[in-house]
Amino acid sequence: MLAFRFVASIMITGTLLFAAAAQAEDCGSGVQLRLSAPDAAQGSLLLVTVHSAKPLGEVTGKWNEREVPFWRTAEKGPGALGADVRHALLGVDLQKPAGKYEFRVAAEMQDGDRVSCQAMLKVDEGHFATENLTVKKQFVEPDPEQVARAEAETKRLREIFDRVTPERLWDGPFREPLDGVFKGANFGRRRVLNGHPGSPHSGVDFPAPTGTPVHASQKGRVVLAEDLFFSGNTVVVDHGLGIYTFYCHFSEIDAKVGETVEAGTVLGKVGATGRVTGPHLHWGLTVERARVNALDILRVLGKS
Ligand SMILES: [Zn+2]
Repeated sequence: MLAFRFVASIMITGTLLFAAAAQAEDCGSGVQLRLSAPDAAQGSLLLVTVHSAKPLGEVTGKWNEREVPFWRTAEKGPGALGADVRHALLGVDLQKPAGKYEFRVAAEMQDGDRVSCQAMLKVDEGHFATENLTVKKQFVEPDPEQVARAEAETKRLREIFDRVTPERLWDGPFREPLDGVFKGANFGRRRVLNGHPGSPHSGVDFPAPTGTPVHASQKGRVVLAEDLFFSGNTVVVDHGLGIYTFYCHFSEIDAKVGETVEAGTVLGKVGATGRVTGPHLHWGLTVERARVNALDILRVLGKS
């Protein structure tokens, strides 16, 4: 959809290995904090790892003035016995100003000790291209009724992305939403629609024939499944811990609100509903309200 809004990691036998990872910060008491990269472009996703030789209690972090939810993973491999490993995802919104930001973590040890430490993250400009598009006039100069509808829908979507389901509903790597070879592109592009500047493009577009099945990228709960003004037939899946995937411009919706889906469940079919120039899937990812490149979650959590 047009309106809204690195990290190399390799999954090998359940262990995350990092290429170009930032140096580990020593938090004391055998606890280390590591970001999957020392710097990140606007719109990218990072994996945080907290590693402790001793069992941990609660681990908390703060990013974008929000509490960052952590999840626990069992570390496999030699020498890992007894280690407590926690992960979290940090989303760098595609319009977060470039600069240096602090990410602070506090961990409680099971023996009552408390440690805290911080990592600096450098956010770089995304260098997104600008493109000119021609769409139906109603999407650039909507009438008052359409404006009211679009504003109400944007507000509802914001409220959805603001909610953090405390449980992690997904399990394992995420998958691309289409089967076969479909290349996704256009994330972050600044768009000029019929000569008027539009909002940056917050998703990845996969041009595909109308009717191509669209699959859920991971387990989760359907929290929206309806026709919206700009995005047409739209489905939003809540994966827990503030992570949402967004799929739109469907010709048909096959999912229902409240339904639990698995990785691969068909949510609907590719179409050209809403503000489009032709049939395609728009795939979006929101992490704790940050609009990030959905393809990054395949890299950060490993590709299925
Ligand atoms: Zn799009």
